[in-house]
Amino acid sequence: MTTPATADNEGFCATLKFGPGYDAPWLVMRDGSADGLKRKIGEAKESGLLETMGKASAYVVTLAPPKADKAAGQPSFSGGRVQNSAGAESGHKGDLTCDHGARTHVAKGTWEAYFCNADERAGEAKCPPAFLDKKTGKFAVKR
Ligand SMILES: [Zn+2]
Repeated sequence: MTTPATADNEGFCATLKFGPGYDAPWLVMRDGSADGLKRKIGEAKESGLLETMGKASAYVVTLAPPKADKAAGQPSFSGGRVQNSAGAESGHKGDLTCDHGARTHVAKGTWEAYFCNADERAGEAKCPPAFLDKKTGKFAVKR
């Protein structure tokens, strides 16, 4: 997933997460100025948008397919970047890293993949995910 560099991406961006996990729903707000962003967050709070989002998010996460297995290590955020303490899980083969370092393993329902940890907010482009190829048993980026 790449984000084209448009005027919308300039200035300030706030991501409000509705949960502690990597897959928690989030609300992103952008504005060209810090004051504008502050005003938007205030409006979101006063209009009840945040409460609505919180309730909707709590419902939406119940619709997600069950995880095939619990991730061994939840990625944590440190210094603005995702730090994956687990890294590649034992026995996994294939494209487990990229130019941005260790990828993050995500398993849901019928699929699992390693995702790039590039920081899009810092202008880095994410590499495509490496999905598990069940025929070869290896994680591979589709080219
Ligand atoms: Zn990458």
